[in-house]
Amino acid sequence: QPVLVWFRDDLRVGDNAALRAALDSGRPVLCFHVFDDASPEIRPLGGAARWWLHGALANLSDNLEKRGNRLHLFSGAAEELVPRVVAEADAAALYWNRRYGPEREIDARLKKRLRDDGLEVKSFPGRLVYEPGSVLNQSGGHYKVFTPFNRAAVAHDPPPEPLRAPRDLPRAPFPRALDDLSVTLNELALEPRTPDWAGGLRETWEADAAKRGEDGAHERLKAFVSRHLSGYARERDRPDFDATSRLSAHLRFGEITPRQAIHAALAARAADRVDAQDYDSFRAEIGWRDFSYQLLFTHGPLHTRNMNDQFDAMPWREDDAELHAWQRGRTGFPVVDAGMRQLWHQGFMHNRVRMIVASFLTKHLLIHWKAGEAWFWDTLVDADPANNPAGWQWVAGSGADAQPYYRIFNPMTQGEKFDPEGDYVRRWVPEIAGLPNRVIHRPWEAKPDALKAAGVVLGKNYPKPIVVHEDARKRALDAFETIKRR
Ligand code: FAD
Repeated sequence: QPVLVWFRDDLRVGDNAALRAALDSGRPVLCFHVFDDASPEIRPLGGAARWWLHGALANLSDNLEKRGNRLHLFSGAAEELVPRVVAEADAAALYWNRRYGPEREIDARLKKRLRDDGLEVKSFPGRLVYEPGSVLNQSGGHYKVFTPFNRAAVAHDPPPEPLRAPRDLPRAPFPRALDDLSVTLNELALEPRTPDWAGGLRETWEADAAKRGEDGAHERLKAFVSRHLSGYARERDRPDFDATSRLSAHLRFGEITPRQAIHAALAARAADRVDAQDYDSFRAEIGWRDFSYQLLFTHGPLHTRNMNDQFDAMPWREDDAELHAWQRGRTGFPVVDAGMRQLWHQGFMHNRVRMIVASFLTKHLLIHWKAGEAWFWDTLVDADPANNPAGWQWVAGSGADAQPYYRIFNPMTQGEKFDPEGDYVRRWVPEIAGLPNRVIHRPWEAKPDALKAAGVVLGKNYPKPIVVHEDARKRALDAFETIKRR
């Protein structure tokens, strides 16, 4: 009788506790993944994330085959499919690694039902550095503020050593009766065909050894630790530099674990190749991810409602034309437009710019954070059920430990501070590349001869700003006044 391993957001063979336990059972192992777009507890993936998932599954499948095993794929509601797989395979046990959002309800129901039928069902940690509930405040509650949460989390470090990937995985025969149910990766149709809009994604993520999937994740981690971890604290806020790890999509799909990332960084620190400040800064970003997951775990889905219900009364505007201009990178504010175009092309945006564009949408345009969150969900390869809505609510002011609403990013000064030479803007907004640095973040202030020399005609080949910064700022503050509790 085989042990089944159900792969979900953990598309890796290394540091995989469920897989390791299956191997240790001494039984043959049957590995499967369910592409579940049907269960109401599961938010259907956006387009860019589906594209990423294809690569992640392909690589997992290769890595299992290299170990003498196989990945079987199914499509549909897990709660119907998994018991059938268990029954047809005549399984002795079912193992999985935990999830932390509303999918937990599916897992809990399945666990109960299958255990009642006599099956051994076990779930394992691995997605986070520390399980929700293991980093608690002095009164035994969950932290609501990041800094003390992270301080308490780091006090537990180092986290346990990552588990090694198994060398061989004895394979269980695939039951004939499941042939009709199983699908091929291509049948899942995760990658776009017509129109094929994924050219920019392929160019960005498939060009070098660091591709989608577990192998690419390790390439990327290695390159980051050897080239960019030193200097990370100073340079991570610069979108014009290639200074961050770009591990987010790999972490999102569980191709690599945060513990593996931390241990790689710790090894560099121990060898004195990076200083404490750079290590701590990277560790803190990984800590933000655990913090977001703790919020998801305690609040339930974060994309559907304000964590701070004061914001339920916020007089958001509905303006499809302005939302569209923001989505397409045509607001007339260069750093905002650069970010939105990077997102569209690469399925990725630098963290600093995510904050700027999110602030612009929710404050300058006074459009609901949910509209921005949904756009990111569809267009980011790393679209994450915890980090994305938590990031949006943080910027909008409606989240836990949120940035105060009245803190309104000025897109011009943000651009000048974090993209001082304008390289990032010039890359993504080439129509204004010829403007001098002085006005690259505020083209409407350029002198007519500078505009002419750069071939820029505002309102023709680059938009005039869709709002006036000072007016928009005042409108946002006035809106906030209406919901402030006295
Ligand atoms: P690095 O700087 O190398 O950081 C390492 C890892 O730490 C990241 O891969 C990520 O897993 C984690 N991390 C870094 N910053 C944060 C953060 N602020 N919050 C939580 N985790 C963090 N991140 C996502 O993974 N998916 C999302 O959908 C997402 N949406 C966001 C939306 C908004 C509005 C904002 C402000 C932030 C969002 N983030 C999201 C967080 C952050 O922008 C990205 O994780 C980061 O830019 C990814 O780049 P990197 O891997 O090079 O990061």
